[in-house]
Amino acid sequence: MNFSIRPMKQNNLIEALAAGPLCGDGAMGTLLMARGMAGGSCGMAWNIDQPEDVIAIHRAYREAGSRLITTNSFGGSRFILALHGRAADVRDLNIAAAKVARTAAGDDAWVLGDVGPCGDFLEPVGDLTEDEVRDAFRDQIEGLIAGGADAILVETMSDPGEMILGIEAAHACDPNIPVIATYAFQKTADGGFRTMMGSTVADAIGKAVDAGAAVVGANCGSSLDLDDYVTLCKEIVVAGGPAHVIIQPNAGAPQQVGGQTVYLATPAQMADTARRLLDAGARIIGGCCGTTPEHLAAIAKAVAM
Ligand SMILES: [Zn+2]
Repeated sequence: MNFSIRPMKQNNLIEALAAGPLCGDGAMGTLLMARGMAGGSCGMAWNIDQPEDVIAIHRAYREAGSRLITTNSFGGSRFILALHGRAADVRDLNIAAAKVARTAAGDDAWVLGDVGPCGDFLEPVGDLTEDEVRDAFRDQIEGLIAGGADAILVETMSDPGEMILGIEAAHACDPNIPVIATYAFQKTADGGFRTMMGSTVADAIGKAVDAGAAVVGANCGSSLDLDDYVTLCKEIVVAGGPAHVIIQPNAGAPQQVGGQTVYLATPAQMADTARRLLDAGARIIGGCCGTTPEHLAAIAKAVAM
């Protein structure tokens, strides 16, 4: 028997989710820019060049109550890193991303190794082959796991085909690692939801579950308001079957103010939405664009109640 004096996180994220809901974290890019990162530059390089800034952002979320700390590796595939001349550094940058997140997460939070879209379309719409994309995801995820990620988050996907390759790549690296799969949905004229590639909730979520995702859901999405996320959550709960559901909304629908895109939902509005998402069956609630540690503190309180 192994009795621990300090409260430790349960090693298995999925067992922990069965016991109760967990709070995710919020936006990374805007907080890096607030610390001086130039728009369009390589945010992942900060994991090596300025790790103390990335750790400070992770710590702010951890202190706000986030139990899931998402690595700074959204653009961490060779395709995106190539745009910054860093394709050769896939492994090192992803290892560093997981290590800095691990430093901030401590013993009682999980590190989610973040994987974003590869940035181009698969054949026949685009030029990328399935093998190329699977290989690229695998390189990235190997680094994230080597750096200490507890689970892999494949996020902001529009193409279920690309999502499936991400999930398969994670399980090729470690057959037992939990995979969290989230799509960006947008609202259709008839009030339904589809990805940018036209996939319905049932199709996109069903394919992620079939590919082995343990947690499925939505993040980001263009122009969804907070009520939309609650409606979307109900659809995802039905489509997800036995899988747990995660919703990481933007801080409200984006608004254009003085030529800038801004997100204006208050922490109190996000907390109210979090309570409604829990009632609708969500098990992980965090934030996407425009969310800050202040929003996450409010969400964490709502999730803990
Ligand atoms: Zn977003």
